[in-house]
Amino acid sequence: IEFEHCGFPATLSGNLKKAGYEAPTPVQMQMVPVGLSGRDVIASADTGSGKTVAFLLPVVVRAIEKPANSASSPVALILTPTRELAIQIERQAKELLMGLPNMRTALLVGGMPLPQQLHRLKSSIKIIIATPGRLIEILKQKAVQLDKVKVVVVDEVDTMLKMGFQQQVLEVLEQVPEDHQTLLASATIPTGTEELAGRLVCDPVRIAI
Ligand code: AMP
Repeated sequence: IEFEHCGFPATLSGNLKKAGYEAPTPVQMQMVPVGLSGRDVIASADTGSGKTVAFLLPVVVRAIEKPANSASSPVALILTPTRELAIQIERQAKELLMGLPNMRTALLVGGMPLPQQLHRLKSSIKIIIATPGRLIEILKQKAVQLDKVKVVVVDEVDTMLKMGFQQQVLEVLEQVPEDHQTLLASATIPTGTEELAGRLVCDPVRIAI
């Protein structure tokens, strides 16, 4: 595939060009069409492969398609194990979202002040980018609701496991409606990762780079 043939809204296509993303990387070539089709995905893809844009493109398209009357609840949830990864994901998301109306993101991560994050959630947010611990803390305060979420990304599932986030990821996903789409990315998929992945997806398409 080429990005021009994906039927993206003109603003999104323009943003891909502006970011210098002329041709899709191999993981994008495989993941974007499947992601757009609505199927669940388990992708084994490492940092540097372009996996972030690969999962962000279907997320952004879903978020754009969502009717305006549900503007006050997030449509997409991206979980990642570390603050640094979350910051990078938000940076790349903002690149893709430039000039698109009502597409605010919220970065909900530990190691940064909570009050600012709670304040951000008072305005309408379309995409949440979070680490599991901080998101649970915020969910306990009922500062955000996940009942309108349509697409969930779990990034670096193997690292999530290594850092002991399995229960927290499952706890967060209990608050997401069952009919959501799930996109998983993991550098490697050893048995433990496969087990957790299996609990998160339904009839997934597997992508190996
Ligand atoms: P990631 O694997 O998601 O950590 O991405 C690695 C880097 O590749 C990031 O800095 C992206 O900005 C860049 N990138 C992602 N997709 C493309 C593309 N299609 N063409 C050129 N660079 C890209």
